[in-house]
Amino acid sequence: MSDRPAIAASTKRIVRERCGYGCVICGNPFVHYDHIFDYSENREHDPSNITLLCGSHHDQKTRHLLPRDRVVAANQNPAAITNPELVRERLSFSSPQTSFLIATNRFGTQLSNGDTYTVFAVNDMTPFTITLENGITLISLVMTDETGRVLLQIDKNEIIFMPSSGDIEVIGSVITIRESPRKIVLQLELNPKDDLINIKRGHLVIGNTAVVFSDTSFSILDSHKRRNIVTMSGCSFFGGQVAHSISSPLFPGMCMIQ
Ligand SMILES: [Zn+2]
Repeated sequence: MSDRPAIAASTKRIVRERCGYGCVICGNPFVHYDHIFDYSENREHDPSNITLLCGSHHDQKTRHLLPRDRVVAANQNPAAITNPELVRERLSFSSPQTSFLIATNRFGTQLSNGDTYTVFAVNDMTPFTITLENGITLISLVMTDETGRVLLQIDKNEIIFMPSSGDIEVIGSVITIRESPRKIVLQLELNPKDDLINIKRGHLVIGNTAVVFSDTSFSILDSHKRRNIVTMSGCSFFGGQVAHSISSPLFPGMCMIQ
């Protein structure tokens, strides 16, 4: 509906806090914001009428396979609140000192509630950030093609756009985001007890820049010219809230570590 305004960020925050940061039915931490009674019925974004549903349950509700009454009941008794192991025990960090292990490179930082850590920036864009909110880890990720068209987008654990063949799998504390069944965009493991976020592997594309995480290194490539801009392995950095910032793939060597 083109005249429908976006849900305000403050409203989304009220909803996700109330729902315990997970689908109210199953507790999956990657969600859609769903109007329990359709927006067209009252034409407002009242947070009490908005709930969190994972991709699967959102799809079922849209197709009337998941009864609204069940969503109403779950909204009053969200799975992630009644079962803390679904989200809070897996994705929360109590200490402000957090380490990021990015494909064998270790970055340490102090993250307070509400802070956002930029895992890397490309040409003033921040395609991959991690925000701590009430101790919960929220992932934001965007991939684009060379024309700027969005290929995949997640904003603070909200699924904004996912290809039909894409998928987000959460097993224990390992999160795997796939563009298609065999194409992993990102795999990371959260270790709240060790205050460690381990970015294990992935292949992210932003325009003509590709960022590749492997078992041994982290590389930034100019995918258009198939040229390697920088590769890092086994490095340690502490402080700051940006791991990597690259000004332009047109200027190889301009990768700045902040
Ligand atoms: Zn669900």
